[in-house]
Amino acid sequence: MNQEMIRKYAEATVRIGANVQPGQPVVVYADVESVEFVRLVAEEAYKAGAESVRVEWSDQALTRSEYTYRTLESLSKVPTWKEAQLKEMTETIPCRINILSADPDGLNGIDRQKMQAVQQKRYQITKPYSDALENKEQWTIVAVPSKKWAKKVFPGIPEDEAVEKLWAAICKTVRITEENDPIEAWNEHNENFRKKCELLNQYRFEKLVYHSQNGTDFTAWLIPQALWMGGGETALSGIYFNPNMPTEEVFTSPMKGKAEGTLVATKPLSYQGTLIEDFRITFKDGKAVEWQAKTGADALEKMITSDEGAAMLGELALVPCGSPIDQLNILFYNTLFDENASCHVALGRGFSNTIEGFESMTKEETDALGINDSMIHVDFMIGAPDLSIKGYTKDGKEIEIFKDGKWAI
Ligand code: ZN
Repeated sequence: MNQEMIRKYAEATVRIGANVQPGQPVVVYADVESVEFVRLVAEEAYKAGAESVRVEWSDQALTRSEYTYRTLESLSKVPTWKEAQLKEMTETIPCRINILSADPDGLNGIDRQKMQAVQQKRYQITKPYSDALENKEQWTIVAVPSKKWAKKVFPGIPEDEAVEKLWAAICKTVRITEENDPIEAWNEHNENFRKKCELLNQYRFEKLVYHSQNGTDFTAWLIPQALWMGGGETALSGIYFNPNMPTEEVFTSPMKGKAEGTLVATKPLSYQGTLIEDFRITFKDGKAVEWQAKTGADALEKMITSDEGAAMLGELALVPCGSPIDQLNILFYNTLFDENASCHVALGRGFSNTIEGFESMTKEETDALGINDSMIHVDFMIGAPDLSIKGYTKDGKEIEIFKDGKWAI
């Protein structure tokens, strides 16, 4: 990929994604594989007026060593300096830029039990800080190719070629071309989301019913006060940002504890470095009670049992078959992309900002209305070419929302 395009993407990450404002601190979370892109993002952030740019590096090989050699007790500790840093972040509210590039099954084979236990223990300490940042921070998730990820997506061709192809695919999904003005393209994209949400929000659906030949037969109840959202969001500070680049979804948070039936996954899911494939989950009284997977069953089990809220839903998202990302017909093995090619739902934490008037409510108040709470939020894909979704209003009206995998309204 030519340097100019990559710089354009870095600039879009800063200006459209996080929308960094003069004087704001920025924290970048990235894998060492993406160092060149991180440098560009940092430079663009400074050009946008960032007060500082701090990078938190990760490396799958190091993570693997840590889980192999460190004890559970040692891994579970959150050092006091780290906690102080998190506390400070709740005061300075930095913009958060996550840059993904990991190998989708790069942590395969490490002790899942240990990983889950570490995550649970650390979360007990970090939760108050992440709760305090919710809706206040501007954040964005983007991705850049790594060699291993590219090889996974495009097997059987030389590594350089695979990386090049993944770059081209990513640029396409994030609406960056050689000629265009990405800001203009995203304004138009966000305007389309706004119209779709407005339409859906008129109905105030009480429940959605999903059907597909593959075995999906599922009903989810909605929160009366929850709205459909899509595209950019506004932080409590009033600054507009785009949390995901790319994004093609319109979503809401469903009523915690009210869902029945079976959802069949239609794409593999890379969860914490392990691929989960050919799986289905059955819900009763809003909770996952039964699940099967052809591969990665253990990872699926650990995911659903992470905590109480991990067995319940936090998101319902609508993405038509034939969306620009779906049209690429590439399995990215990365949820940021694959979720935007397909209708999906998420297990775990819901989005409190889907509640109308959340700005003047506490997290306890939005949770009390039915927003799920959990340490995880994991999307999985259920879109299919024959998927039907019907919405039912409080007064019993039936509205066809999706027919044959596409928007019907
Ligand atoms: Zn989603």
